[in-house]
Amino acid sequence: MIRWGLVVLGLLVTAWAVETWEVVRVGRVDYVSLDSFAKFYGFKVPQEIEGKRPFELSSAGGTLQLTLDSREMRWKGARYWLSHSVRKESEVVLIPRVDLVKTFDPLLRPNGEIPRRPLQGVVIDPGHGGGDEGTRAARGLSEKTANFDVAKRLVRCLDKAGIPWVLTRTKDRYVDHADRSKLADDHPGYIFVSIHFNEDSSRSSEGWETYSLSPQFAPSTSSGGSLVGDEDQIWPGNGYDHHNFLLTQAIHRSAVLAKSNAPSDRGVKRARFKVLRLANSPSVLVEGGFMSNPREASLLRTEEYRQQVAEWIFAGIQAYARSQENPQAAARLQLAKDRVATNAVGTMAGVKKNEEVAPFRSRGTNLSASNVAPAVVVPNPGQGVVVAPAAVGGVEPEVRKALPVGTEKKE
Ligand SMILES: [Zn+2]
Repeated sequence: MIRWGLVVLGLLVTAWAVETWEVVRVGRVDYVSLDSFAKFYGFKVPQEIEGKRPFELSSAGGTLQLTLDSREMRWKGARYWLSHSVRKESEVVLIPRVDLVKTFDPLLRPNGEIPRRPLQGVVIDPGHGGGDEGTRAARGLSEKTANFDVAKRLVRCLDKAGIPWVLTRTKDRYVDHADRSKLADDHPGYIFVSIHFNEDSSRSSEGWETYSLSPQFAPSTSSGGSLVGDEDQIWPGNGYDHHNFLLTQAIHRSAVLAKSNAPSDRGVKRARFKVLRLANSPSVLVEGGFMSNPREASLLRTEEYRQQVAEWIFAGIQAYARSQENPQAAARLQLAKDRVATNAVGTMAGVKKNEEVAPFRSRGTNLSASNVAPAVVVPNPGQGVVVAPAAVGGVEPEVRKALPVGTEKKE
């Protein structure tokens, strides 16, 4: 009797789901058809999609630019990198499923049914420090110093706006990555912002790139789209995939679409940097230009440009905070501010030293927390069972239906 009930329910779910999302597996990667994607988000699809020329999907909300066999994507003037290439198989254009759930959906429906997280404050992480210098520009300026200078400027912006903050280091010393990330544990509702500058063996490389943690089962941008084998693990940071992406792209857009002096746009990227893996909060890592590029290095040697970098980051944080506001947000922010003030984390004049910060409190991986969606298991023939990339970080109910039929784990 129970078995029959399940079969009937299964058939109904199948019929409904197929009507909504056409899911196709090519190799180890799942895709949805461009037609079902366009229908769901209200995009107009061009008649012909051929070759390597970018094609545009238009909607009232904006224009999305995609290219066959490419991971590059543009949305309203800014550049993003998908986990896998858009492709065409048997005359059907396919969109990677992991990008539908982890990139397009947060981008196109930032405030669906996933609970908002009103901003309570910011953990500012000036990268490197002490014996770990990071990279270095020609003629002196080291990355650790530039990171810290921008962090202090960001502190002043946050103070003016009345947004609480805490620094992972307050002087030139090395702090372990895990300790940096764990600072977010002691400050519930804070976001984690790691500040870095870039380097490359080619002196011509320049521009701004902004990173969020790669979702589970998604390759990192630098892997060229190939799965290299470390994608199966769920990191604490994956509990915030949706908000990680919103925060990352808000900061990225603020910089690369700036009205003046905008750095060149290297895109919103994904990586499994240790601070992003371990941060138990929405997190972002900013690479605000190349110290190995003579032009950007000389800009970075000026206070004006470092101030500009801090202000771009700040404007991105503000845009993210606005996207998370709800009627209670202002009240909560005030509460957080009071709490922080009594803890003396406070103002620039009394920059809080790490030693004064309450001891780190490890909450482990905390993946049973209520903000993490239950795992969805997808049978993967010949390769055992894998957890679907949509498993963590919040997934909108309709997009969840893009998961292969009959694979939802009973809750
Ligand atoms: Zn760095």
